[in-house]
Amino acid sequence: MTGSCARELIASSGLPRPEAGLLLQRAARVSRTWLIAHDDEPLPEDAVRRFQDWAARRRAGEPVAYLLGEREFMSHAFTVTPAVLIPRPETELLVETALAHLAGRHAPRVLDLGTGSGAIAVSIALARPDAHVTATDSSAEALAVAAGNARRLGARVDFRQGSWYDALRDTPALPFDVIVSNPPYIASGDVHLSQGDLRFEPPQALTDRADGLQALRAIASGARPHLAPGGALWMEHGWDQAEDVRDMLRTGGFQEVASRRDLAGIERISGGEHPG
Ligand code: GLN
Repeated sequence: MTGSCARELIASSGLPRPEAGLLLQRAARVSRTWLIAHDDEPLPEDAVRRFQDWAARRRAGEPVAYLLGEREFMSHAFTVTPAVLIPRPETELLVETALAHLAGRHAPRVLDLGTGSGAIAVSIALARPDAHVTATDSSAEALAVAAGNARRLGARVDFRQGSWYDALRDTPALPFDVIVSNPPYIASGDVHLSQGDLRFEPPQALTDRADGLQALRAIASGARPHLAPGGALWMEHGWDQAEDVRDMLRTGGFQEVASRRDLAGIERISGGEHPG
C-alpha cells in the first residue's frame, strides 16, 4: 500500500521529519510510537486529508501551534489561537523566578500583565493553588483564550481587561507580592517581525511600535504603588535589552536589581524588589 501510509506522507510533505511526524500523529490521533510501528499501513482518508491541509499551511509558514491549536508550557497543554502569542520555552524562566520569590509566602498575590494565552498566570496558579492570581490583557479575544485555559486546566485566576495597570481600576487596591510580564518588546521595523512564526502572531503582543522599551518602561514605572514591601517585579525582554531594563528599574527605586539568563545563555528576564 502506498501513498497514504505514514512513511510516504512524511517523506513527501516537504517538511522537516519531526514536524511532519507531529502533524501526522495529531491528524491521525495516534501516538508517536504507534506511527513508527505502523508506518507502512494506510491511514484513514480523513486523517490523510487533515494532514495534507496542515502540511500545506505549514509550508506557507503558519506556526505548528496555531495549526494544532495547542502548545505545551510548564508541562501544561495550553490552547492557542492567532489572538495570542505562542508561549515560548524561555518564558518558563519568568514563571520559575516568580515561584521562587513566592516560596515561603502564604496566600501570595500575583499580577500577570498582558497575559495572552494565560500561560504565565495559569502556570503560577496551578503551582500555587493558595495564590490569588490576577491576569490582565487589553484584548478581549486574548482574555477569552486565557479564561478557557484556566477553566480547562483547573486554575483559579481573576482576569481583567485593560492596558497595563488601568486594568486594575475596578479591583481592590491590595498590593501584589509579585508582578510578572512578558510584554511586547520588539522594536518597530525589526526584521524578525516579518520572519517565521512572528508573521502570524498578534503584532500588539510582539512590538510596542516604537523602540521596544515602551511597554517595559510603562510597567516598570507604574509598578511601585501596586507592590507590597519586599514585592518583586520581573519582566521578560529582548536579548539586548537587559541593561536598559536594569537601568529603568534602578531609576524607579527598585533594589536587588538583577537579570537572569535563559537556557541559550541570553539575559532574558530582569527584575527587582520594592524596598518597602
Ligand atoms: N520572545 C518573542 C520572540 O522574540 C517576543 C515576545 C515578546 O515580544 N514578548 O519571538
